[in-house]
Amino acid sequence: MKLSKTLSGECACGEVQYELGRVPMFTHCCHCLECQRQTGSAFVINGLIETDQITVSGLEPVPVPVPTSSGRQHDVYRCPRCQTALWSDYGGRSWLRFVRIGTLHDPSSVSPDVHVFARSKRDWVGLPEDVPVFDVFYDMKELWPSEALARRQAASDAANANHTD
Ligand SMILES: [Zn+2]
Ligand SMILES: [Zn+2]
Repeated sequence: MKLSKTLSGECACGEVQYELGRVPMFTHCCHCLECQRQTGSAFVINGLIETDQITVSGLEPVPVPVPTSSGRQHDVYRCPRCQTALWSDYGGRSWLRFVRIGTLHDPSSVSPDVHVFARSKRDWVGLPEDVPVFDVFYDMKELWPSEALARRQAASDAANANHTD
């Protein structure tokens, strides 16, 4: 990944503009059927990043709850005007966002670190040999680099320390 480059993106109508202060901690390509339905496509690419590393200018995305088979909370943040999905909050974690990498100005700047729910992958989607693939999900502590785990822990700790709101 290109660390020096500004990671910025926008919705389809351009009213929401955003910048990422850091590269995502880890990036999922999810082939589950829920992601296929929500995107109308074969998979979604989600960059996991601290919420405070996303700077929005223009319109503020609005959370839209979607049902999940797991029962966990899932809010998709959409442009209030064109409804493009920009990022998700999975599991009600205010400190963590799953940014839709396809909304970056240069979506090629972030590649998936892992492919999950490959059991429901479309047969015609080929995957690279050098990226881990899981039928369902994976053990984060085994797969994430220690630096990414430390970032995730720090963001979680900071949110819990401020849990007075
Ligand atoms: Zn828009
Ligand atoms: Zn999925």
